[in-house]
Amino acid sequence: MRFFTAAMVVFLLSANVAKARSGNSNSSHEAQQQEDEMARIVGYAMTRGGAPAFLELVTDTIGGRITGSPQSRATAELILKTLKEAGFDNAHFEEYELTSTWEHGSATGEVISPVQRSLMIGSYGWVPGTPGAIEVPLVDFGAPGEDHVPKPEQVRGAAVIVDLRSNGISSTYAGTRIIIARQLAQAGAAAMFIVSDKPDRMVYTSAFGFYPRGPLPIISIAAEDAAFLRRLLAKGPVKLRLNVQNSFGSGPGRERNVAADIEGSDRSGMVLLCAHFDSWDAAQGANDNGVGIAAVLEAARIMKALKIRPKHTIRFVFFSGEEQLANGSRAYVEQHKGELDKIWAVFNTDSGAQAPLGFQLNGRADLEAETKKLLKPLAALGADRLYLDADFDSDHESFMVVGVPAYSLRVEPGDYDARHHTIIDTFDRIDPRMLSLQTAVMALAAYSFANAEQAPGRRLAPAEVRDLLKRTGLEPLYKLEYPDSKMQ
Ligand SMILES: [Zn+2]
Repeated sequence: MRFFTAAMVVFLLSANVAKARSGNSNSSHEAQQQEDEMARIVGYAMTRGGAPAFLELVTDTIGGRITGSPQSRATAELILKTLKEAGFDNAHFEEYELTSTWEHGSATGEVISPVQRSLMIGSYGWVPGTPGAIEVPLVDFGAPGEDHVPKPEQVRGAAVIVDLRSNGISSTYAGTRIIIARQLAQAGAAAMFIVSDKPDRMVYTSAFGFYPRGPLPIISIAAEDAAFLRRLLAKGPVKLRLNVQNSFGSGPGRERNVAADIEGSDRSGMVLLCAHFDSWDAAQGANDNGVGIAAVLEAARIMKALKIRPKHTIRFVFFSGEEQLANGSRAYVEQHKGELDKIWAVFNTDSGAQAPLGFQLNGRADLEAETKKLLKPLAALGADRLYLDADFDSDHESFMVVGVPAYSLRVEPGDYDARHHTIIDTFDRIDPRMLSLQTAVMALAAYSFANAEQAPGRRLAPAEVRDLLKRTGLEPLYKLEYPDSKMQ
């Protein structure tokens, strides 16, 4: 435009006055445009069905996606292809090394004395198998404690039942699990049984605490079967036959994350939207975390389709290796060290497709006030609540420990715990409405943050991170997961 008219000058002046008065730099035109864009994002999320369709594709054509497996690779390729087709020319793989790869073999167990009966069991991840079929006595160790540690004369050569909470969605108990496993291996136990918390005779799996290599075969046993074994033990000695066929790869493995950007006009700030695509293979990894990648991927496609140009960059990142030790997000943090100060927020989703409620701030009370303002658009979706809790249950931990503001999507708990890492984590149990709503929530959160004038908070210094970990009770787990950290 070449000429300024007097009327335009007045308009510009009054816009500046309004801006100064409200403290908000958005002109009303910009605010209107953002409102329109947000409405269209939500509309697309709720009507296109893109996230449920992608979830069906990944769960039915690929299925379970164990880290380092051909299925994990196929998923990374499918995500990359889908991003490219949506117009993300900058979509790419970011490779990293896995310390070890593991193959999930069959696991069978039966009582051979005093009766013959097969057992419902399943192997934990990243633990060795048995040397073929073994016949071993059964020992009931009960609950471990400071004064109650395994002694070789009690457990040598035996399969040992240990009372631990098995349901692996809270990372805080995982420390006890690996400590007792190490003690049992040292005392010469042949295998460790953890009684499953799952309903309906289901078993559970996880590699948390065991990657890169568990110290002995660690087996989930259905609660009903453990109760049966204990009834037998009360009457006399019990002998089992176990055959667990897991194997480790010969050397380190390779994995990859997938990333793509919608570049902002101002590159000084960046918002990450992320989810992990690896899963366990008892079922299809639908709730954990097929829905997460489906939501993030569809959020990316919608913003591309709507030609959204945010002020700051929105980066979509799909991690592998979450189920082992958040390997993908750790690799990301390492590979993008130089950029961490620029990350305003990391929004991670990994809690299943129940009704979204808001975001967990992972202990960052300093972010609360600004976050509340920026997430106002989520109020109409019932998803603007903030939670100060903190955990290490997913990839947000890799960002938390380097001080980057990390948000986790919170949802209604529903029956997530029952399905988590079991044979019923299947596509048919996903409510497409909730998945679409989550897509909208994730997209709006990223959109709102990326269009903010300034970062809602800042990266914490190492001493502040140390305080945060102490305050939130995560320090012991941090020491376990990061044994080489200088922060200790
Ligand atoms: Zn997960």
